[in-house]
Amino acid sequence: MDKKKIILGLTENSGNQAIKQKAFQLIGNIRWVGFSTIGINETTPSNRIFDLNLLDDGHLYFGTAVGKPVYDELMKNPNAAVTGTTEDWLMVKLSGEVSRTHSIEIMNKFYAVNPGTKALYAKAPDAFKLFYFAKGHGELLHLYKPNKIIRFRFGFGGIAPPPNRYAINSDCNSCGACAERCTTEAITPGDRYAIDPKHCLECGACYDTCPVNAITKYDGRGA
Ligand code: SF4
Ligand code: SF4
Repeated sequence: MDKKKIILGLTENSGNQAIKQKAFQLIGNIRWVGFSTIGINETTPSNRIFDLNLLDDGHLYFGTAVGKPVYDELMKNPNAAVTGTTEDWLMVKLSGEVSRTHSIEIMNKFYAVNPGTKALYAKAPDAFKLFYFAKGHGELLHLYKPNKIIRFRFGFGGIAPPPNRYAINSDCNSCGACAERCTTEAITPGDRYAIDPKHCLECGACYDTCPVNAITKYDGRGA
């Protein structure tokens, strides 16, 4: 199994803070990312492309106008999600809570890197408001071969990384059926077989295959 893949300088041993920094940098570099909110009716997803800026205080900022639907949505429910990708399938996701900032210093920094936005709102500067991602989960994922991935999860704003989607428990009888079906060779043999979450596609094939239900699935939301 190829476990040497390194993305953005991260290795198998990189910690939460290092992963978070690389993910935020990648979003800041991609800049134009998918940005989802919960619709004002609380049932319909709402999505658009946003420009996220990583400013020098380490937070990801974005702005919008008070008259836009997304502003109302965030005021009603501050949970939002971001996805972005590079051309070679290095993907990044964030999911969490956003907060407004009222800092004039931050606004000036934002305008310094977004002079077009400043010009756009020159006649109505009060209409434009800044937000940042305050806390949540994130993930970096690189699909670097048809059957190989590497995945790094992280938490930010005091939130721990989410649990792994699939894990093998003590009921495992080492039959090996799961490893035979694994799409990304993420399962290693042993007295109890084990799933390496950094290489797991989360396809669920092992979960459906195990004859003794020794694979547990985490149903909570990740990034
Ligand atoms: S299929 Fe189930 S019992 Fe068999 S090795 Fe995998 S986890 Fe263990
Ligand atoms: S969920 Fe899919 S990729 Fe992950 S360990 Fe199971 S079979 Fe392999």
